[in-house]
Amino acid sequence: MTEPSVVIIVADGLRPDTLDRAIASGLVPELAALRAAGGRHVLTTTFPSVTGVAYVPILTGRHPAAAGVPGLRWYDRARGLPALLGHSRSYVGLQMRRIDHDLDPAVPTAWDLARGSALGSMAMVTRGLPVRGRVEHGWRFATRALGAHLAGSVERWSALESELAGRFVDRVRRERPRFAFATLTTGDKAAHAEGAGSAAVLASLQRVDQIARQVRTDAEHDGRWASMHLYVISDHGHAPVQRHFDLADALREAGVRVRSHPWTVPDRSEAAVMVSGNSMAHVYLGLEGRARLPWPSMRSSWGPRIDDILAHPAIGLVATSLSSSEVAVGDGNARAVIRFGEHGYSYRTERGNPLAIEPFEDQCPQAVHERTMESPYPDSIEQLASLTPAPRSGDVIVSAAPGWDLRQRYEPIAHVSSHGALHAAHMLVPFLANRPLAVSPRRTADLFGLVREVLDAPKGRP
Ligand SMILES: [Zn+2]
Repeated sequence: MTEPSVVIIVADGLRPDTLDRAIASGLVPELAALRAAGGRHVLTTTFPSVTGVAYVPILTGRHPAAAGVPGLRWYDRARGLPALLGHSRSYVGLQMRRIDHDLDPAVPTAWDLARGSALGSMAMVTRGLPVRGRVEHGWRFATRALGAHLAGSVERWSALESELAGRFVDRVRRERPRFAFATLTTGDKAAHAEGAGSAAVLASLQRVDQIARQVRTDAEHDGRWASMHLYVISDHGHAPVQRHFDLADALREAGVRVRSHPWTVPDRSEAAVMVSGNSMAHVYLGLEGRARLPWPSMRSSWGPRIDDILAHPAIGLVATSLSSSEVAVGDGNARAVIRFGEHGYSYRTERGNPLAIEPFEDQCPQAVHERTMESPYPDSIEQLASLTPAPRSGDVIVSAAPGWDLRQRYEPIAHVSSHGALHAAHMLVPFLANRPLAVSPRRTADLFGLVREVLDAPKGRP
C-alpha cells in the first residue's frame, strides 16, 4: 500500500446547479462517477466569497479574516503595508503573491502538513509549498499570465491553463506528492464574461473532468488509487449582475475624500473603499487612526455622512462591529445583533429580521450553520462574527444586493455575473469526493480537517 495522498481540484466559481446540469447532460462523466462514489455535497464558502481569499479556509481551516486576509483588497490601518501603495493591498495583479506574507505566521497551512511532498498549481496561498512544487513557477509563465489578465482574454487564459493542467497531471504521476492542489480559474473568467451557465463555463468544466480522469487512471495504473483522496470543489458561486453601483464614487459625491484601487497613492483620503469580488466591500473610515474603533464611537461623526448611501438599493446587508463580541447587521429597514463568545452564538432581532432566520441563543458553530443553510444568507452568523470584528476589516462591511455589484470603473472585462457577497448564490459551492465520507463537511474550511486526517494517517491506512 502506498502512502495516503490528497488531490484537490478547485473549479473556480462553479455553482452547484451548473455542475448538476453538466452531469445530467453527460458532459462530465468523471465528475458523474465521483458523485456516484462519494455523493454530491453543497458547502458554504467564506464571506467575502472571492478567489484567493476563499482558498484560505481550504488550505488553513480558518476564516480568512481571522488568518490576516480580510478580502481581495484591504486597507492596513496599522500601516505595515508600504506608504507608496497608500497602505492598501490588492491581490489582483502584481501583489497576488503577497497573500503569503499577510497570512498570520502562526497559522499552519496544508503545505506545512505535507512537509515538502506537495504540488500546487495557481494556488495563490503557497506558504510552506517549496518553489520546486509550484507548477507555474518561472518568469516566462508570469509574463504570459499578466498579458492574458491585462488583455482580459478568456481564450488566452484558457490556453495557459491547459498547459498548466498537463504539467500538473504529469507531475502528480511522476512525483506522487502527498498533497496536490490545483485551481482552474477559466470557468470563473468565463462566468464573469458570459454567465455562470454559459457554454464557455461548461467547456472549462470539461477540462476539470479530464484532469480528474487522468489523475484517477494514472493512480489506478500504479496502485495509488486505493489510498488517494480526490476532491473537486468550488471556491465561490456566481450570479447575474445587471447594475453596477460604484460605492467609492458615491462617497466622493457625498463629499468624502476616498482612496480606492487602482489609485491608492498616499493622499489626504478620509476613507478607503476596498471592493472584493465585486459584490462585497470593506469601508474604512477616519484613516488617521491606526487602531480599529468600535462602530458606536464612530457613529456620530460618520453616520450622517454615509447613511443615505448605505440605504441605496445596491446595498444588501451592512455589518458593523459593536464590540469584540457583538456585530450589528442590517439592511435598509431591519436591524439585528449577533453575539458570540464562549457560550456560542446568539441572534437577536431589534427591528425586522435582516438575516431572515429565527432568533436564537447560545448555539454552537454546527447548529448556526444548519439554521442558516436554507436562508437567503447561508452561514451568515459565523461568517459575520469572524469577518466584522477582525483587526484588518473595514469599519463598515457591505454585501451587495442580488443583481448588483459595487465597482464600475477600472474593470478590464465587461461582466454580466459577479460574486463576493453573503447571499446564497455566491456562498453555496459543490463538493465531490471519490469515496463516501464519515462526516459530510459543511464549510469549505472543513476540507482542511480532511486533508490533515489523511496526511497524519500512518502508512498503510487509506
Ligand atoms: Zn471571479
